[in-house]
Amino acid sequence: MCLLCHEPVDKLSEFSCLCAACAQDLTVLYHDTTDKCPICAKKSVGNAVCGACQKEAPIVNKLWASLHYQFPIPALLHEFKHVQHIAYGQLLAELMLANPPLWLPETKIDGVLAMPMSTKRRVFRGFNQCDELARWITQHYHLPLLPIDTVQRQHRPPQSTLKKATERKANIRAAFCVHHNVKNRKILIIEDLMTTGSTIFELARTLRKSGVNEIYVWLLARNL
Ligand SMILES: [Zn+2]
Ligand SMILES: [Zn+2]
Repeated sequence: MCLLCHEPVDKLSEFSCLCAACAQDLTVLYHDTTDKCPICAKKSVGNAVCGACQKEAPIVNKLWASLHYQFPIPALLHEFKHVQHIAYGQLLAELMLANPPLWLPETKIDGVLAMPMSTKRRVFRGFNQCDELARWITQHYHLPLLPIDTVQRQHRPPQSTLKKATERKANIRAAFCVHHNVKNRKILIIEDLMTTGSTIFELARTLRKSGVNEIYVWLLARNL
């Protein structure tokens, strides 16, 4: 049965648990790369590094989102996170792999880090959805997955519950603590969703302070 339309699947698509018609519909959600800044993925004519990213030394080297955060992605992500339906996790990972970062083939990554989750939230939810996405991706590309205790995350209210940008900034400040030696490494961060970027950029800042050389980000979806 197709996870999206719930019709019996007679002709399977390239995705497990998705019919060919639904798979085709989802391609409109793929982020296209024309006229996007290679660092922040915001609009930029001719793929030039945008003004904002030129102004300050970029916190991340490159950032990529596979999909727009539009129907049915929020629903699929919700099922995966809160119902822990593993088939949804596999489908989301397959969607990432179907639209991988253009820069990945020429980028040397020596460690993949799933966006950490606080111990309290992990215990409450039972798992970290980003660990699962990172597991599929590292298996596919034969990349080393960093241990889940590489970076510890303090328990704070979810960023999405805070309305003001200043509140979000203060909430996430000093939220991460690096526990392993990551000096001179080239790290790829896997995250499910980016809205304002405050969480991703705080993690990247913390990694930089710990001596990480290059930081790349691969998002399942971006809310723009
Ligand atoms: Zn379908
Ligand atoms: Zn930019």
